[in-house]
Amino acid sequence: MAAYDYDLFVIGGGSGGVRAGRVAASLGKKVGIAEEYRYGGTCVIRGCVPKKLFVYASQYHEHFEDAAGFGWTVGESTFDWAKLVAAKDKEITRLEGLYRRGLENNGADIFDSRAELVDAHTVRITKTGQTVTAERIVIATGGVANQHSSLPGHEFCITSNEAFNLEVLPKSIVIAGGGYIAVEFANIFHGLGVETTLIYRGKEILSRFDHDMRQGLHKAMVEKGIKIVLTDVIEEVVKGKDGGLIARTKNGDSIAAGAVMLALGRDPNTKGLGLEAAGVRMNERGAIIVDDFSRTNVANIYALGDVTDRVQLTPVAIHEAMCFIETVYKNNPTSPDYDLIPTAVFSQPEIGTVGISEEEAIKRYAEIEVYRAEFRPMKATLSGRSERMIMKLLVDAESRKVVGAHILGHEAGEMAQIIGICLKAGATKDDFDRTMALHPSAAEELVTMYNPSYRVRNGERV
Ligand code: NDP
Repeated sequence: MAAYDYDLFVIGGGSGGVRAGRVAASLGKKVGIAEEYRYGGTCVIRGCVPKKLFVYASQYHEHFEDAAGFGWTVGESTFDWAKLVAAKDKEITRLEGLYRRGLENNGADIFDSRAELVDAHTVRITKTGQTVTAERIVIATGGVANQHSSLPGHEFCITSNEAFNLEVLPKSIVIAGGGYIAVEFANIFHGLGVETTLIYRGKEILSRFDHDMRQGLHKAMVEKGIKIVLTDVIEEVVKGKDGGLIARTKNGDSIAAGAVMLALGRDPNTKGLGLEAAGVRMNERGAIIVDDFSRTNVANIYALGDVTDRVQLTPVAIHEAMCFIETVYKNNPTSPDYDLIPTAVFSQPEIGTVGISEEEAIKRYAEIEVYRAEFRPMKATLSGRSERMIMKLLVDAESRKVVGAHILGHEAGEMAQIIGICLKAGATKDDFDRTMALHPSAAEELVTMYNPSYRVRNGERV
């Protein structure tokens, strides 16, 4: 008789957890998985996927405007928020079904319940009170939006969770934060006709990105009509007389809006999980501490994805899950590779990036070459839209390797994915130069920037 009920029990049915559970089950392991909300996790249910659908929705008014330059006359257009939310819900329900079926078809036991650790090998299914035992446990409970509970009036604010299901689209919104979520939602709401103000504590939005991307996007957003307030924070949110909200800021502004959204980062979802009972160590942020193989300090317990303090991205969680499978079930110790992760901000225009920023490259290399092009994309000539595309390659002068590629403009994310392969393969600037251009395209600019715009030697621009 088996010593445990399961070979593997996974807590959390998001990208990382489902992948680990499904693949382990496909290898013949007896797998149980528990999810307290909906299978698919943040990415599918209230993150990347519905966000991207909303991005598409928010772009139509520009498409309608642009059409005129190409000879089209578009009739009066209206937007129905409830219809969009319903269509989005239908799609994520379909995707959730696929996630569940993937688990079921491979023979995993699915628990629609929260699960908590009782000890290193025992999990309590809280809905029924039942306990199950497992040889190994994977914790993949993801993250939760930072509620900023020290902010007076935070209870009147929404986070991205609620933004996906608002009953009524507000006429105006204030969004706090300058990261991915704040910037993406500012563009979504603005595109859907909401008067939008972004308020960020730093000197420029998207602190971890290349300065050209940050400034270029800022300028484009302001030109579209989004208000961006920098070096300020909301200190209090109160209810206004008209039923709306007022955000009072540190610099003395009072901004009235129909809604206030907090996009101030996400915290690891570890509260009440029973980690103390099982002896699993966390860091000061409450993130589970893991080694290079996603193993916690308790030998049979692993943690994947946003519940650990690594890179908060869906493909990273999936990659960590696959490394876990290789290490534990295929006798092939594999640690996740975090080098050269392509990423996109689905703003309007989009940012696509892979590798390091100019600021980081200057710190890391004695001399870098910066290739930079800024131009009006072809579509904007007839549409008359005043938009600019920026492309930038950063090259280590000594090895000639391209160490950073940054794009602002349409389909920047799609391009970053492909450039990611080139950089991963170690492409040099000479490889880019000898690649034939594909004409007419925006991407051809990446292989036709023959002369550096400038060099930076020992921190000095030359
Ligand atoms: P980010 O970490 O990107 O941004 C958080 C923002 O909040 C930063 O601008 C930060 O400022 C600011 N902030 C944090 N604390 C405070 C505070 N106390 N007062 C004022 N400002 C504060 O987190 P997000 O919430 O935007 O997104 C969470 C994660 O989800 C991201 O890190 C990303 O990995 C992932 N994600 C990825 C997406 C994609 O791939 N397209 C889309 C959405 C999310 P500062 O910069 O100064 O620290």
